[in-house]
Amino acid sequence: MSPLPPDASPHWTRPAEGLDVLALRTPTLPPATRTNTSLCGQRDVWIVDPATPHEADRGLLLATIDALVREGRRPMGIVLTHHHVDHVGGAAWLRDRLGLAIWAHPETARLLGDALEVDHGAVEDDIFPGSHARDDRWHVLFTPGHAPGHICLYEPVRRLLVAGDMVASVGTIVIAPPEGHMATYLAQLARLEALGASLLVPAHGDVIAEASERLRFTRLHRLEREEKVAAALDAAPRELMEITRAAYTDVPAALHRLASASARAHLDKLVDDGVARALTDDRWALA
Ligand SMILES: [Zn+2]
Repeated sequence: MSPLPPDASPHWTRPAEGLDVLALRTPTLPPATRTNTSLCGQRDVWIVDPATPHEADRGLLLATIDALVREGRRPMGIVLTHHHVDHVGGAAWLRDRLGLAIWAHPETARLLGDALEVDHGAVEDDIFPGSHARDDRWHVLFTPGHAPGHICLYEPVRRLLVAGDMVASVGTIVIAPPEGHMATYLAQLARLEALGASLLVPAHGDVIAEASERLRFTRLHRLEREEKVAAALDAAPRELMEITRAAYTDVPAALHRLASASARAHLDKLVDDGVARALTDDRWALA
């Protein structure tokens, strides 16, 4: 762990050389209250998910970028992992402020529509170079499932993964159809796990050192939940909220409405897997 830059705030960390992480306040899903804006690149810096709408936090982001410039680094562009507001809410402001272009997957650009214009597409195998160094080439991984246009950035020599909303250190990742797709998400989690990343920066919460373990835990936890959803099914039709209450007994009732989105995603997968059948838009039974 290298020392922090001189005027570092408690929410500024440098988990690796050429990778700075700022946790800035955003309107995200509780219990998370912040989104990590990652600054990738030892010389040329790519700003991932600038999202804060708060003036003080935006000031902190600008001050951080200024500090990096004093270190000889230069901001090159803005990269969005996906279209959710707690990931893009500061992008237009930062583009105007610094004259930077915005990169995102074409699906993200489509979903943002008129809300935010994306300047360039970023797709699987694209590379954002941080410098000429061999260990400073940030590859785009297309990882849909949470959102249809979700991407991660991965530096394969030091195995640094900027993972967006694939996992979280605080709170949980909601897979909400029709945007979210559970089987796709699980497949992408397995793919990220197989990278053997040495370090993972989630969009919400602390940097994760045991990356593959956390990804595997997240995937197995989802599969356990899927078993609970399957166990809540019966030969007789059951409604979504009834299934959610039965499958999420460990989650406070106040969160069941939110959980029902993920339950719905599990049900879609169980239908595809031939375990469940959808009777109406709100009723499922065992197949
Ligand atoms: Zn999201």
